[in-house]
Parts: sequence; structure tokens; C-alpha cells
Amino acid sequence: MHLISTEGWVIIVLLGFTLIPTIVNGIYLSTRSFKCRTCDHIFKAQVYKLLFITHFNDDYIIKCPNCQKKRIVFVLKKEKRKNSIGEENEY
Ligand SMILES: [Zn+2]
Repeated sequence: MHLISTEGWVIIVLLGFTLIPTIVNGIYLSTRSFKCRTCDHIFKAQVYKLLFITHFNDDYIIKCPNCQKKRIVFVLKKEKRKNSIGEENEY
């Protein structure tokens, strides 16, 4: 007994190939920090805001929570930095 027809599977697979990279990218970006080019505010964004985000390389168009306007921000690369007392902070 087939619960889903062949055509059904084709649609599911095509949707999967389209949606999975989008979702993975959104989750990846939600672990990154964004820095506003205008006010230097560093913030994180929710996954759902990142799923269909417009970007050019590391520049993303997203609303800065400080400016409250859509701005071009850029992603801070995840890196471990040591501060003066030797604690590691993730940005
Ligand atoms: Zn800003």
C-alpha cells in the first residue's frame, strides 16, 4: 500500500531540496552576531527573520534593533577572543 504517490514524493523531495538549505542557513545565521553598519550595534536575530533574508556576501539587509530601521548589517565571524582577564568570549 502506497500512502504517497510517486508524484507526491517528487514534490516532497523538491520541497526538501529547496527548504532544507534555507532552514539550515537560517539556523546557522541565528548563531552568528550581526553588526549594524550605521550604529555599530551588535545583535542576534531570530531564525524566522533569517530564513528569507536578502544578502550580498556577508552583508545582510535586516532591521537593526537599535536604529529600528532596515539597514545593511554584516555578519561577525564566529571567533574566540580572549579579553584582558583571559575569559573566552564568543562573538
Ligand atoms: Zn543600527
